[in-house]
Amino acid sequence: MPQNTRTKIIATIGPSTATREKLEQLIDAGADAFRFNFSHGTHAEHKERYKLVRKISKEKNVRISVLADLQGPKLRVGEFKNGSIVLAKGAKFVLDMKPILGSQERVTLPHPEIFKALKVGDILLLNDGNIRLKVDACDKKHAETTVLVGGPLSSHKGVNLPNIHLPISALTEKDKEDLEFALKLGVDWVCLSFVQKVADVKMAKEIIKGRAWIISKLEKPSAVEELEDIVGESDAIMVARGDLGVECPLPTVPVLQKKIVSVCRKHAKPVIVATQMLESMINAPTPTRAEISDVAAAVYDGADTVMLSAETAAGQYPIEAVSMMHQTIEEVEKDPLFYHFMHSSRIRSEFINSDEADAISCAAGDMTTELRNVAAVVTFTTSGATTLLTARERPDLPILAVTPDEEVANRMGIVWGTRGYVNKGVFKNFNNVESISRKIALETGIAKIGQYIVVTAGFPLLKGGKTNLLHIIKL
Ligand code: PEP
Repeated sequence: MPQNTRTKIIATIGPSTATREKLEQLIDAGADAFRFNFSHGTHAEHKERYKLVRKISKEKNVRISVLADLQGPKLRVGEFKNGSIVLAKGAKFVLDMKPILGSQERVTLPHPEIFKALKVGDILLLNDGNIRLKVDACDKKHAETTVLVGGPLSSHKGVNLPNIHLPISALTEKDKEDLEFALKLGVDWVCLSFVQKVADVKMAKEIIKGRAWIISKLEKPSAVEELEDIVGESDAIMVARGDLGVECPLPTVPVLQKKIVSVCRKHAKPVIVATQMLESMINAPTPTRAEISDVAAAVYDGADTVMLSAETAAGQYPIEAVSMMHQTIEEVEKDPLFYHFMHSSRIRSEFINSDEADAISCAAGDMTTELRNVAAVVTFTTSGATTLLTARERPDLPILAVTPDEEVANRMGIVWGTRGYVNKGVFKNFNNVESISRKIALETGIAKIGQYIVVTAGFPLLKGGKTNLLHIIKL
């Protein structure tokens, strides 16, 4: 059954899944959100896919979040005369700004900001970190290097500079164009790639002006250094393990993942664990045992969402991959120890504000365990904030986000345990919490007569008041 788990699934849409039939099958298999990766595809393709997703979700009466993932300042080498070379360990290799085809001795690196930042002794990683170069000499236009770890290198491969802070913006000219296009389409979330510092998020916020919520992708060591501030400033976080695993030593990635998930929960910000979750399913109908354990570990950690990339965008078994992820989540969430872990990892004493909103959401969480026969938590929310605080508590019950705003309801597709529900009327005339909550709980089918619901809200509702109401209602 789709959309019946607390932990959500994002499927990246690409050539393997860009048809009506496949999109419907992805939803039926358990996808809650679709990611459009702006590193690939044309605007015309994204527009077509977006329209199709919205249409299908309306027809199926299933809410789907749509994410636009911006490419960001991905650094790449230029083109080689013969398409590729093989670098041997100990060889000398030059990177420079000359706009000519590359050879066994040199290649173009068309990024002056890299040469400005480089120092002798710095390490450059090429081709997803597989090639390692050490800088022997450099100036503002070139770098002479020695190959520490060799391997094949083809045209346009990526370049990573771990531990070097580059004076570049997280939004390139292409990103700005893609962003305006995605916002006009009406996407719910925008993912910022290669965030280096909190100022990058602030700058994007100024451009986006609330038209979508922002997911900061954590893939740079410098961003990890500013983790608390970046989480505080962002609306959600993605543990982007692909580039994170290039920029940081691989054994540190699971540790960073746990730390990032925990900091996000503290701040009541949704967190996505991404990349290579079921990588082998790009070419095989079943995953490895280790991959399934990785998905399960992210769910046990309390991640809001797990994400598939190439598995669904370009793989041969996209539906099987979502289904496998969904079945794994179902199994973990059935484990009696799952909620034991969820509740034991609550971080009450470290709450950010320790104000009435924190106290009320904590108490709402307690009520769902202390009271018998509670069916759901109903949150009334204009901005979504009350719902996020409730979701932080990880109650063993569905959370309903009742909001007047279609966009806020759609954004809930990546929030743990939460479904969005639009009701404009009650926000105009909210004169009786009890009768309105009762009516909504029954009409959505989230609870039955005789059961309790726990209600939270922030009054005055439409003014985005801070969470200040907690109510138990017996239906
Ligand atoms: C990642 O690096 O893990 C990631 C999600 O980003 P992208 O797929 O854009 O490289």
